[in-house]
Amino acid sequence: MSSRVALVTGGNGGIGTEVCRHLAAAGYRVVSTCVDPDRENVESWQRELEAEGHSVHWVQCNVTDFAACQAMAEQVEAEHGPVEVLVNVAGITRDAFLHKLDKVDWDAVINVNLNSVYNVTRQFVDGMRKRGYGRVINISSVNGQTGQFGQTNYSAAKAGLHGFTMALAKETARKGVTVNSISPGYIDTVMTAAIPDEVREQIVGSVPAGRMGRPDEVARVVAFLAADESEYITGANIPVNGGLFTSF
Ligand code: NDP
Repeated sequence: MSSRVALVTGGNGGIGTEVCRHLAAAGYRVVSTCVDPDRENVESWQRELEAEGHSVHWVQCNVTDFAACQAMAEQVEAEHGPVEVLVNVAGITRDAFLHKLDKVDWDAVINVNLNSVYNVTRQFVDGMRKRGYGRVINISSVNGQTGQFGQTNYSAAKAGLHGFTMALAKETARKGVTVNSISPGYIDTVMTAAIPDEVREQIVGSVPAGRMGRPDEVARVVAFLAADESEYITGANIPVNGGLFTSF
């Protein structure tokens, strides 16, 4: 069991909720960021997890806003203590072929999936280095490894996370801070529920495992990388994709 503080961006989403469950079950003091302006959804999310016996906290923060991330970090560390595990989960898709892709959708995807990781990690990495301990885990995607039709924005952002992960891992390797990414394949959440049925069938047909993944199958890898014992794993990318894409 760990009593360390873990911050999860997008902790109230499909994968994020399972990440919060797994970390809370392992003893971490879990804080999720949320964007929900009227608090209704996030409060019911919190109640649901509490009813299962998982204590979780939340803080409002749009991760595309650097100043908001600064304020969020100060608030979280004042209320809960130093953040030693950071899981960057928040993400969106705005799919269109590039010849039809509006700038607003390019910018939104780069901001939420990639710039956010700078905005949030920047707030905590100095403290992690000074204390000599930290775990940064970035949720990328198989589509950042292979590219995907209609996802130049998303594939670029997720591929960018791999570069960020490897570079920061080198900067912090001697400071007790590990930085890794996870590349899920197709996971059953509201994000993939938006995929039309016939495309979804094609996707499932192309997955060697013959099914979509579950959020808990990603969350258990997060918990593994977050553990103190995983200190020699850094700069790595762990695919969780049912064999959809394999590489050395
Ligand atoms: P969800 O849509 O269920 O969750 C996305 C989360 O991101 C939500 O909690 C959402 O908050 C949050 N979020 C979105 N925009 C912002 C913002 N500006 N500031 C703060 N939080 C924000 O998606 P998934 O759980 O499926 O995806 C989670 C991550 O996993 C994403 O990064 C996604 O790209 C990645 N991924 C998902 C795959 C899949 O098949 N599902 C495959 C590969 C990667 P709110 O609900 O309040 O808007």
